Amino acid sequence: MSKKSKKDKDKQLRTPIVSVLGHVDHGKTTLLDKIRKGRVTAKEAGGITQHIGATEIPIEMIKNICKDIWRKEVELPGLLFIDTPGHKAFTNLRRRGGALADLAILIVDINEGFKPQTEEALSILRTFRTPFVVAANKIDKIPAWQSPGFVPFLKSYSMQEDIAKNRLDNKIYELIGKLYEFGFSADRFDRITDFTRNVAIIPISALTGEGVPELLLVLVGLAQRFLEDSLRLHVSGKAKGTILEVKEEKGMGITCDVILYDGTLKVGDRIAIAMRDGVKVTHVKGILKPRPSQEMRLESKFRSVKSVVAAAGVKLIAADLEGVLAGSEFEAIESEKDIEEFRKRLEKEYEEIEIRTDEEGVVLKTDTLGSLEALINELKDAGIKIKNAEVGDVDKRDVIEASANRDELNRVIIAFSVKLLPGVEEEAEKYGVRVFRDEIIYSLIDSFVKWREEEKRLREKQKIEELVKPCKIKLLKEYIFRRSKPAVVGIRVLAGELKRDAKLIKADGSPAGSVRSMQKEGENVPVAKEGEELAISIDGVTIGRQLNGDEVLYVDVPERHARVLEKDLMDTLSEEAKKAFQEFPEIKRKVNPFWGK
Ligand code: GDP
Repeated sequence: MSKKSKKDKDKQLRTPIVSVLGHVDHGKTTLLDKIRKGRVTAKEAGGITQHIGATEIPIEMIKNICKDIWRKEVELPGLLFIDTPGHKAFTNLRRRGGALADLAILIVDINEGFKPQTEEALSILRTFRTPFVVAANKIDKIPAWQSPGFVPFLKSYSMQEDIAKNRLDNKIYELIGKLYEFGFSADRFDRITDFTRNVAIIPISALTGEGVPELLLVLVGLAQRFLEDSLRLHVSGKAKGTILEVKEEKGMGITCDVILYDGTLKVGDRIAIAMRDGVKVTHVKGILKPRPSQEMRLESKFRSVKSVVAAAGVKLIAADLEGVLAGSEFEAIESEKDIEEFRKRLEKEYEEIEIRTDEEGVVLKTDTLGSLEALINELKDAGIKIKNAEVGDVDKRDVIEASANRDELNRVIIAFSVKLLPGVEEEAEKYGVRVFRDEIIYSLIDSFVKWREEEKRLREKQKIEELVKPCKIKLLKEYIFRRSKPAVVGIRVLAGELKRDAKLIKADGSPAGSVRSMQKEGENVPVAKEGEELAISIDGVTIGRQLNGDEVLYVDVPERHARVLEKDLMDTLSEEAKKAFQEFPEIKRKVNPFWGK
């Protein structure tokens, strides 16, 4: 290869990798199928290229699909769609410093709007800072909509009756509003001028293909604008990739389906693969691509190639692939130094994610590094502190870790898509640790937050109930039933509530005994409300000595309780109780001038 042509190749842009996310049944699979089939027949120029685990749409084909609306030349070779849709694939498939996908399509059923997994997808996209577009799917189901087939959205839209247009517009406004709530400014794609600031919404039907041309066009535009720098220079050079799946193939043993996202991989290359606890080194014995024929079920599904250029999905044959996990990264290596660097980088990446933890907080366990990162971000956003965050199933150590929290509300394990190992449930029960487990990030956090709020509310309520609150009563002279041991007298509650065992004081601050019991119409009652009249018995006083039997008495609110009341709970008091509470410090200061100061 001459120097010049090598330089040119270096400049080539790599194919961007695209992933499709969205709520279940909103149309991810249908869209990928539609994109795979395309508008043109396979015979026409620039048909799709099937990769392992991915589908490539060359730029020629995108031009063909978009021929009515294609405006300017782009350099991109095409788009590589990962065939497995969904959040799991997205968080699992990582590369250095983030998600494997360069771009994403968030698909939303326009008739249903946002659903829990739509919200979850948005938080994942935010965590990984992945540029995305929103495909507002199933427009063909809008009442009165007439589908003309696989055409650009704007063409289809111009053919609709006003009533269908209005319905679509309203649904789009709803989506814009929802996206705004999540901090994204969005608009219909044809009203956007700055695609780096606004999220484009493209109305489509994955079933008829309406809008798919614009969807592809906007993706190409986004890639060109957002990613140009990061996609450049990534065609030649050291191969880097992510393992999609580890599979046993007839006659080949264990193989790996991989996405190569960087560089060129050749048969004979040594590669280092990230394992849970270290690095495995092996060498590439074979690189397989699917046969271009549509007959995927034929015996010889694959053809062997000598090398492959990023971005691409291929199957690798290599020695010693036992124990390799889906989602792991690999890298071509040339020396021991390369292996060491790869190992160090992985360790650092784990550390960076795991280290950001607090002294006191919940224990977090997830299935992959990607989901760990997404959950850490979500929990932090929700103001939840994390004591320990790790990839792996929940074991007894996690229970001990969680139980060591001072605050009961932190004695919690949040488990995302992982198992509880045997004995963990019993152990958790024993140590009073709660385990929240789910497969959906959104509902996992939601159930924890709800539980925590309910617990907090209960505690608050209990705390309020335990506080002594202001109360003012008047002794009724005409109802003195007994003068002492205990004194029994009729009263009226002027302000607040009177409870059994309350300590009483007089308006000069001197003690006036404590309430032993209260009776209303012959029945014992625990509380007397403002305005009620009843008989109470008072320990520790004699009417005729400390008391006349006609005075106003106050419940003696301890100084500490008074502070809490004043700070947080004034609005729980009645108007009269507030007044009584305001009179109270002056009364106390007649005996103790420093009271409440
Ligand atoms: P996924 O769970 O997100 O992969 O959703 P699917 O692609 O499996 O779609 C769920 C259902 O919605 C299937 O029955 C599809 O045929 C249907 N569907 C998907 N896209 C469209 C569309 O644009 N219009 C209509 N009418 N139905 C659709």
